[in-house]
Amino acid sequence: MHFVAIAIDGPAASGKSSVARRVAEHFGFLFINSGAMYRAFTWWVLENRVNPSDATAVLSLLQRSRFECGLQGRESIIRIDGRAVTEDFMRREDVNASVSTIAAIPEVRRALVAQQQHFCSMGDLVMEGRDIGTVVIPETPYKFYLDASAEVRVRRRRAQGIDDNIRDRDLKDSSRDTAPLRPADDAQRIDTSHLTLEEVTEKVIQTLHVEGVRRREPPRQVMSWVYNLTYALCKAFFGIAYAMEVHHAERARIPGGAYFASNHASFLDPPLVGTALEEPIFYLARNTLFKPPIFSWLLPRLNTVPVDRDNAELSSLRVSMQIVKEGKKMVVFPEGTRTPDGSLQPAQRGVGMLVAKTGVPVIPVRIFGSFEAFPRTSKFPKLDGKIHVVFGHPIHFSEEELTAKGKAGQQVISDRVMQAIASLTVPDGTS
Ligand code: C5P
Repeated sequence: MHFVAIAIDGPAASGKSSVARRVAEHFGFLFINSGAMYRAFTWWVLENRVNPSDATAVLSLLQRSRFECGLQGRESIIRIDGRAVTEDFMRREDVNASVSTIAAIPEVRRALVAQQQHFCSMGDLVMEGRDIGTVVIPETPYKFYLDASAEVRVRRRRAQGIDDNIRDRDLKDSSRDTAPLRPADDAQRIDTSHLTLEEVTEKVIQTLHVEGVRRREPPRQVMSWVYNLTYALCKAFFGIAYAMEVHHAERARIPGGAYFASNHASFLDPPLVGTALEEPIFYLARNTLFKPPIFSWLLPRLNTVPVDRDNAELSSLRVSMQIVKEGKKMVVFPEGTRTPDGSLQPAQRGVGMLVAKTGVPVIPVRIFGSFEAFPRTSKFPKLDGKIHVVFGHPIHFSEEELTAKGKAGQQVISDRVMQAIASLTVPDGTS
């Protein structure tokens, strides 16, 4: 799938972050703040008491640090060696004072630009920074360069109560050898000195509309009448028998292929995930289940794909990869089998392998109440109790996680998925 990428560059306090965020919201695109990545690493340098002017020491720290850029909802977030870098850390005065020195080091830029480019494979996005139109995504036709007089920009920062020597930063950013701040030749330049935030945002949105950029709604897949009917029956059954409640299904509305990774406590889980969503999704089942003629007719119409029993592992792997590569979504159960006692089990390596091989995002799902309704030990479901299905934010894995070598790397991905499932809770205020 080819995604739309919009580049917004400009000097400090030109308004690009606020405009970029609003434009991203308008189109339902991801919002990537590249300055935050340079700030996060600068904070890390200071935290580790490394001198920002000592490029060799800075690079040695870069090499031994695990820098992960991911998404929280639709916005980029950063973790270094497992620590989330908060806005408070990134906006510190000592970070303001050193970030341009760090950002002038070519190797630092190379590492961060690779992360920024990786975001372009995750979805439509708006990315803001200094070199987005010139270096990070020079091929995009959608480029803006926001500027404002130095006086106006200094005033804006002061009004925010932030001590930030932006003249000094601008000078360093525009005079460095690697990727200096400058407008791309084909960027639309907007002087924001005398415009409000709303006016600039409107201007950018209007231009993009004229150029044909539209809000991308995830493609609606057509349900066959059999899927429709079964869906409606299951939904009614879960509603009546278990007062099923679904939480945060909107988090699942992302374009392209993805895996829903759910905890597994009961045979009810696959249809529970399916009916919690508005779009049809795909399932796997052993090919022996397809033997009775009624099932061989029914199951394919319920998006259930057979896997070869004698060669289950390889066959299910191949099929599961194929489905998401076609831009569809399917359910997987990282624990492998149903829990024997209701507690969450450790994740198997399988889901990590699928993610590493396909690079698609994972949407964690936690089902509460299905074990009580229909545990492994029962022949039939009990028709009471309460079921909740909770969706988490999609996890987009970093390049580093996806390319980590071998079984250990895949297990790390699986464990992260399982942790995300475990962290989901039924929102307060629901019974
Ligand atoms: O955008 P923001 O002011 O948060 O950026 C902080 C610093 O990060 C800039 O002054 C610049 O030195 C660096 N930066 C960069 N290239 C980008 C984004 C930010 O060099 N694409």
